[in-house]
Amino acid sequence: MQLIDNFNFTGKKVIVRVDFNVPLNSNFEVTDDTRIRGALPTITKIIENGGAAILMSHLGRPKSAPEEKYSLKHVIGALSRHLGGKEIKFADDCIGAKALEMKKSLQMGEILVLENLRFHKEEDKDKDGMKAFAEQLAEGTDVYVNDAFGTAHRAHASTAIIADFYSDDNKMFGFLINSELESMDKVIKSDEKPKTAIMGGAKVSDKIQIISRLLPSIDNLIIGGGMTYTFIKAQGGQIGNSLCEEDKLDLALDILKKAKENNVKVYLPSDAINADKFDAEANTNVSMTDQTPDGWMGLDIGEESISTFSKVINESKIVLWNGPMGVFEMDKFSKGTSEIAKALASATTNGAFTLIGGGDSVAAINKNKLADKVSYVSTGGGAMLEYMEGKELPGIKAIRK
Ligand code: AMP
Repeated sequence: MQLIDNFNFTGKKVIVRVDFNVPLNSNFEVTDDTRIRGALPTITKIIENGGAAILMSHLGRPKSAPEEKYSLKHVIGALSRHLGGKEIKFADDCIGAKALEMKKSLQMGEILVLENLRFHKEEDKDKDGMKAFAEQLAEGTDVYVNDAFGTAHRAHASTAIIADFYSDDNKMFGFLINSELESMDKVIKSDEKPKTAIMGGAKVSDKIQIISRLLPSIDNLIIGGGMTYTFIKAQGGQIGNSLCEEDKLDLALDILKKAKENNVKVYLPSDAINADKFDAEANTNVSMTDQTPDGWMGLDIGEESISTFSKVINESKIVLWNGPMGVFEMDKFSKGTSEIAKALASATTNGAFTLIGGGDSVAAINKNKLADKVSYVSTGGGAMLEYMEGKELPGIKAIRK
């Protein structure tokens, strides 16, 4: 497999699948440029080597036709700022005669951004049209680099199919995908102990596969968020109106049984902040999670749980975190998630390797300004879950041989 580290891009036209799927405000300004920053090492290497970079991405979910609010021209200002004000060229369609002409006339050291790939149904929806579309994307370029980890779990034209148009020597992952893979492999394969997985979020059903895969290799499993209550109810606790997947009670018991068989210590929250309705202004009280009063629902973990979880995290050498501890979008129920973010930061300071993935946990890390204080913040929620579940990601398979 070709590696980007020692590849010489001099004189090459390089098409790079980046993930510029960034949030924009109503003035079309980028409100979080994490993903743009993530793509910089690869872009910089190509340019500094004396190659030309052609960048392609999707943005949002357009209905397979041009839509102003999803135009990639909105990211050009932010990209240019990160590259010291460098001029960035823009093609207002990702394929067609004009885009091809712009690719051909692009000089070494220059950057061209192609318009949103998903303005064409052949990028992601029309399977029959994908190959011809990918061929047009590849036309006029010598090398393909995939650096869009966030879409690596999708078999789309630009993430997987296009790779067939390049020889093995001329296709590779960018620096971002490389570090994503390295971080996840470290969590999965490292023998360092104790290894702790923290799973939160709404539903057990979304996390069951990753939990099952991790059980043989972890020492501690911390569970938080809405899925707590499926476990609590399965064990006979009173959960009031808390979130519960009634059809997953047996599954929850099965996880607990398998954890025991694998000598994994499971930590469920002992106490919770309850609300009388699912609302930012709800009245609150505190109870044990298995004694939630009738008419109340647990929306965050309580102080005792924060303290138990933080201790386990701080004693760990490897920590994976996916999913919030409570309804962190509402201030009243965000403390548990913030405190877990802080515990991860302090564990990192103490020498642990900490990996955070999934939109909400990443948002919590960013909200608490701790992104620099943890080992790795993944740019791909769904892609990370699928990789950690042991699935083969089409975008990875297309290049990794
Ligand atoms: P997920 O997408 O499965 O990671 O779930 C994230 C969502 O779970 C967030 O929007 C949280 O607000 C929500 N969530 C976390 N804890 C709870 C809870 N105790 N009750 C209801 N929803 C929750």
